[in-house]
Amino acid sequence: MRSGIRPPRLSTPAAFELDTPRHLPKSAAPSPEFAKECAEMAKAVNRVQVILECTSCRKSGTPGVSRYVTTKNKRNTTGRIELKKYCKHERMHTVHRETK
Ligand SMILES: [Zn+2]
Repeated sequence: MRSGIRPPRLSTPAAFELDTPRHLPKSAAPSPEFAKECAEMAKAVNRVQVILECTSCRKSGTPGVSRYVTTKNKRNTTGRIELKKYCKHERMHTVHRETK
């Protein structure tokens, strides 16, 4: 590309800055607050609400199924989560599995 003819848009520094946002002046750098906000937004995106349902209630067909609402990080936990929780219908700790 060393033809000697430079594209006109690169002839001025202003145009160069427009083409490459990475070379923005320091004043335009994101503030710590903004960075924190971004981190929290990323967290909110990965953190999803899930419903845990008692697996033995499902099998036994008792009226009412024990359910718990919790959150998980879908990036770290890709599969369904299973937790031992108290089932008020069976009055004991059973495995609760994520629904859907
Ligand atoms: Zn149960």
